[in-house]
Amino acid sequence: MANKEQTDTDRMEKIVSLCKSKGFIFQSGELYGGLNGCWDYGPLGTELKRNVKEFWWRKNVLEREDIVGMDGSILTHHAVLTASGHVGGFSDPMVDCKVCKKRYRADQLEDIPSCEKKAQLPKGEDKSCELTEPKEFNLMFQTKMGASADDNDPNAIAYLRPETAQTIFVQYKNVLDSTRLKLPFGIAQIGKAFRNEINPRNYTFRSREFEQMEIEYFCRPEDGLRLTDEWLEMRLDFYTQIGVPREKLHVLDIPDGERAHYSQKTYDIEYDFPFGQQELEGVAYRGAYDIGKHQEHSGKNLEYFDAETKERFIPHVVEPSAGCDRTILAVLCEAYDVEDLTKEGGKKDERTVMRFKPCVAPIKAAILPLLKNKPELVEKAKEVKNLLQPHMNIFYDETAAIGRRYRRQDEVGTPFCIAIDFETLGEKGPNGEDFTDTVTVRHRDSMEQERVAISELLPWLLARIV
Ligand code: ATP
Repeated sequence: MANKEQTDTDRMEKIVSLCKSKGFIFQSGELYGGLNGCWDYGPLGTELKRNVKEFWWRKNVLEREDIVGMDGSILTHHAVLTASGHVGGFSDPMVDCKVCKKRYRADQLEDIPSCEKKAQLPKGEDKSCELTEPKEFNLMFQTKMGASADDNDPNAIAYLRPETAQTIFVQYKNVLDSTRLKLPFGIAQIGKAFRNEINPRNYTFRSREFEQMEIEYFCRPEDGLRLTDEWLEMRLDFYTQIGVPREKLHVLDIPDGERAHYSQKTYDIEYDFPFGQQELEGVAYRGAYDIGKHQEHSGKNLEYFDAETKERFIPHVVEPSAGCDRTILAVLCEAYDVEDLTKEGGKKDERTVMRFKPCVAPIKAAILPLLKNKPELVEKAKEVKNLLQPHMNIFYDETAAIGRRYRRQDEVGTPFCIAIDFETLGEKGPNGEDFTDTVTVRHRDSMEQERVAISELLPWLLARIV
């Protein structure tokens, strides 16, 4: 299959443009010039995101006995984030240009950038930014709670959570007491997190508002390292299942000195985005650090009691922490393809096709009556629509020629198109076959067609969209 893209930047621009024109992703506040670092998911993007989140939830919560879910509040008590170290230290080094006043993240600058104000200077003059010394910039969004909050009352301060993890740590004891789980066990959460990134960039990759899919997996200290390796493998498998192939993923074993001081092992899973190899997920062995800190700061006993061995101890934690929006972006980048097709008679043609895995595809099947002005075809097509609609997201389309309708579905990644034609109504096939009450199913990737009985259609599709 030939990709027509010349460069990666070119490919990224085409993906961004398709995402807007087909309703996957829009810039937040676009009407008013856009809110930097914030994105809205359109109709198809919303379905794609729901499918990815549901797949993650099914694999990590519903299909396991040792993991339960939670949904914590976004507004977070200042004491939680003080104990976790975020209030004191969740920052990135920032530098400013003294001339054009642009801000940069110091650790992401490869070269000194060119100064916007100095652009007009004559040839030969130094046009680079004049940067200040780096200073730490806290990434958390702070807010005040309560109508009568005193401006100087530290207890009125709350934060939009910078990660979902801390809400899990501070509820771990309540979950344990209410579920009677035994080690090892996990708590999973999908939800919004907020970071006031200095330089949001690369489309949705680095946003100020984003979603995380996190698991805190609690275990005995002696099992931590082994479980970290096991989680890494499970997480790599997950990406393959949603259409991000293993060869495009890279595992970085973060060396001593670059990991957080409490972590004995951290893996970053990176993906070959069109703008470079970048982090999708971190799998970190966090030891007893988080629960230990919350025990220390709250003064409450957060130990685990092992009824068999009669031991009391702070459980250790392995944390697979994935970015939902980065996963969606990887899925979109991986699905996008422009295929060369040569029409009958040698005429060149191409089609854009989003090759989503059926389990994440926003629309699972399109129902297409061959002609819209034949009431019997339309009636039958609506019967098929009513049959499938309670079970999956389908799309009904009776406008334009069938070939064009197929192409429109290719562009949004619908894996199956179901055509209701005259054979469905009883007309004989080309070799005299009886195709009454069957439909033509066209496969998106191969463009091959086959006939499936309407009575078999629902189980046929359900088996192929999981
Ligand atoms: P980075 O180094 O890219 O800033 P991080 O190492 O700080 O990321 P973590 O704190 O480990 O990220 O967060 C876990 C996951 O949350 C990341 O792997 C990523 O997928 C996602 N994530 C973090 N920051 C952002 C962001 N600004 N926009 C979108 N997703 C993010």
